[in-house]
Amino acid sequence: MKDHKAQQSFSIKYCLSYPLFLASLVFSITAVFADTLNLDEISPGNYLHQGKHVGLSADGREDIANIGFIIGERCVAIIDTGGSLLIGRTLLEKVKLITDKPVCYVINTHIHFDHVLGNAVFAEFNPEFIGHHNLPGAMEANREFFLQEFSKELGSAPSGQLIIAPDKTVMDEMTVDLGNRPLIIKAYKAAHTHTDITVFDPETGTFWAGDLVFRDRVPVIDGKLKGWLEAMKQMQKTEVNLVIPGHGPPADSWQIAMEAQSAYLNMLLNETREAIAEGWFMEEAIDSIGTDAKDNWLLFDEHHRGNVSKVFVELEWE
Ligand SMILES: [Zn+2]
Repeated sequence: MKDHKAQQSFSIKYCLSYPLFLASLVFSITAVFADTLNLDEISPGNYLHQGKHVGLSADGREDIANIGFIIGERCVAIIDTGGSLLIGRTLLEKVKLITDKPVCYVINTHIHFDHVLGNAVFAEFNPEFIGHHNLPGAMEANREFFLQEFSKELGSAPSGQLIIAPDKTVMDEMTVDLGNRPLIIKAYKAAHTHTDITVFDPETGTFWAGDLVFRDRVPVIDGKLKGWLEAMKQMQKTEVNLVIPGHGPPADSWQIAMEAQSAYLNMLLNETREAIAEGWFMEEAIDSIGTDAKDNWLLFDEHHRGNVSKVFVELEWE
């Protein structure tokens, strides 16, 4: 009898405290994760978390992109939010450890999941969400895909609030101010995707290139190759002290940032053009173009063939 009572009171106590227990568990998971999420102040007021180089279906795919934030006198701008709510939440924990200023802007450099799926976490600040003028449409077009393919990364909150598209869009160029700290945001024509923007912090000469620059991890073409090469030329007109790629380590010059990517993309352009001029079929092109570049890049096998087929279609009708 005594035991039964004890059991009962344990159950009641357990039930009552369960939500609290869950909340504290989520908090402690985030807190533990916050300790493990690398973050560096790469230039004054610019904080970068570097993602890992794993495949798109591997464990840890939520944490492959470079994401971070910039702190001004008034408030904070987040640049990309990671590939899950947990990554977004962990980044936010990091922000709160460093400053008590509010998040006033959440900037998404483009549509890919690893840069946007943490957006919902920042809604508590009611920030302006900023993206390319094509991004709202792209988010809408990808909504179902994101909810299905990334249900684990998005958890079980009501789906209407999970995918947040920009409410402020960039047509060409826009400046936002974090309090004595202007940021220049530029939009590009189709390049890595159809939704690429970059963020430049003139105070430190720090250029957040999003996926218009890849280092170490093989570039992925989801827009237009020729547009991407053009965007690379445009970006280099800005004098910089530091370039932050969307994937891979920062570089302190355009030359270092773009050397390998430029060689790879120009090789794709030249060899595919030649193959088309010689009347090759797409399958032949995919089997042989650029295979020598394999040793220069991580995850080459996952993306290279897709790149060749994309470029083949683009150049076939030029
Ligand atoms: Zn991307």
